[in-house]
Amino acid sequence: MTRKKKNRPITPPAPAAPGSSAEAAAAFLAGQEITTTDCRQCGSLVSGLKGRYSCPACGWTNPWHEGHGELPTADEDPDWPGHSRSA
Ligand SMILES: [Zn+2]
Repeated sequence: MTRKKKNRPITPPAPAAPGSSAEAAAAFLAGQEITTTDCRQCGSLVSGLKGRYSCPACGWTNPWHEGHGELPTADEDPDWPGHSRSA
């Protein structure tokens, strides 16, 4: 198998405006808790956020309701397209 190099245009990410999603993302990440468990399917060590796991080795995921705490609502999601955007 040979790998072909594709010439893909590389677009740099847009710079974060002050008070923008970068700060919101940092605030969101500060409230997150990284947890670790053994995969129930293959035994690999799996890390996740707040008790929610997805195994990169075999694809196992635990049920969402086993996570710690409540999932954020759409209103709490800074990426939710329903928020009004100010240019
Ligand atoms: Zn696994």
